[in-house]
Amino acid sequence: MDTISPKKRSEIMSLIKNKDSNIETTFRKLFWKKGFRYRKNSNKYFGKPDLVLKRLKTVIFIDSCFWHGCKKHCRIPTSRKNYWIEKMRKNIKRDKIVTKYYRNIGWKIFRVWEHELVKNPKNTVQKIYKTIESIALTHPKIISHALPEQLSSKIL
Ligand SMILES: [Zn+2]
Repeated sequence: MDTISPKKRSEIMSLIKNKDSNIETTFRKLFWKKGFRYRKNSNKYFGKPDLVLKRLKTVIFIDSCFWHGCKKHCRIPTSRKNYWIEKMRKNIKRDKIVTKYYRNIGWKIFRVWEHELVKNPKNTVQKIYKTIESIALTHPKIISHALPEQLSSKIL
């Protein structure tokens, strides 16, 4: 039996979604400040990445602890438990397919957990920055033109 009214449930869902989008906005702003330019939520790309850095062949997904079944924080609602379990299972399966897809076409994919961003968004941005930097250092010809200025001046 479902003990939450549809109205109440949609309230809960919109709270979760709004929380997600605030976290995303903070992340995107920090990322922009670092000099990265990107497209957000582009439908043109498989799995609709949160950020696409086309010239760097990089996509970033921000995974909410709830929708993507984070082992530490995902609390499955007690009402209609099977429904939620099935939903999470599908999401996790889809995440794997998307990750594989980008790896196969030679793109870099970052998956960032919501809880990492809540804890320390700057640190997360810094980690991604460092990874892209190290790729750039080993393949300067390929992607130096697409790097943020502060990185390309270091390399060229
Ligand atoms: Zn989490």
